[in-house]
Amino acid sequence: MSLRAPEDPGDNTPIITANGYHESIYPTCAALAARVNNFLETEAPTSLLKAVQEQIRTALGVIGSALERYSLDEISLSYNGGKDCLVLLILLLCALAKYKKDALPKALHTVYIISKHPFAEVGAFVDESSATYKLDLVRYAMPMKEAFRTYLEEHKKIKAILVGTRRTDPHGENLTHFDETDSGWPAFMRVHPVIDWHYAEIWAFIRHFEIPYCSLYDQGYTSLGGTTDTHPNPALKAQENKENSHQTFRPAYELVEDDAERLGRDW
Ligand code: FAD
Ligand code: MG
Repeated sequence: MSLRAPEDPGDNTPIITANGYHESIYPTCAALAARVNNFLETEAPTSLLKAVQEQIRTALGVIGSALERYSLDEISLSYNGGKDCLVLLILLLCALAKYKKDALPKALHTVYIISKHPFAEVGAFVDESSATYKLDLVRYAMPMKEAFRTYLEEHKKIKAILVGTRRTDPHGENLTHFDETDSGWPAFMRVHPVIDWHYAEIWAFIRHFEIPYCSLYDQGYTSLGGTTDTHPNPALKAQENKENSHQTFRPAYELVEDDAERLGRDW
């Protein structure tokens, strides 16, 4: 799949355009697509970045199939400010660069279910990234199933929702790229473009492209839930400083193993 935008702005164009200045999401899509395309055409310097290139190609293929199966007003993204759906958002924006300017919406359909005990940092990052990437973000503070039922009632055209679940998440084991929701859930197609990305690949992508991310990840949180069930990951405990008994944690991107990601979550 070619990511080259019809009016390629080159690799030096800033990703983040002045908020509200551009009328459409097109400049953001074109700038991101140019950078990602350039990365894909270059020999990766490490085996991790080589793996990221392959993962990007696969994810763009899945997003491309979703865009063939559904029109833009039938697709939404479930976005909670976490690292996995952030990568997914960036790749979705890249994939949209193939559309003509006029065919793109002014903002992307996205849906965020606010945790019962939300972190202020997560809320702040969701606000900030929604403005940066021009998300038409609908927020619900209610249980997830009920939230999606309400979202579909209020947005009757939506048929497919992109989700950043990965294989090692609870319920991720048997998912494929396209799965209808389970019985008992409101009916729509779940699309999982990053399902087989490893934890280290997610961080390599974010750091390679210098994508801003939620500040909690720099405090040792590796998986974000609510304030009552999420702690910094014990595998990232920094060496204790004797003069200062305050425990500090290394940043999330220093963790390597997939199965250590949720050690800071109570469930
Ligand atoms: P994370 O690993 O933090 O997130 C995985 C991805 O889920 C995120 O990247 C994001 O795209 C999405 N997501 C998670 N939390 C939120 C949120 N608060 N707001 C918006 N997006 C969020 N469970 C079933 O048993 N059967 C189903 O059919 C089913 N359908 C689902 C459809 C969607 C669109 C979503 C978001 C969830 C669905 N779930 C379903 C629930 C799912 O299996 C997880 O329990 C849930 O996503 C939370 O998992 P987690 O904390 O591991 O999420
Ligand atoms: Mg996750």
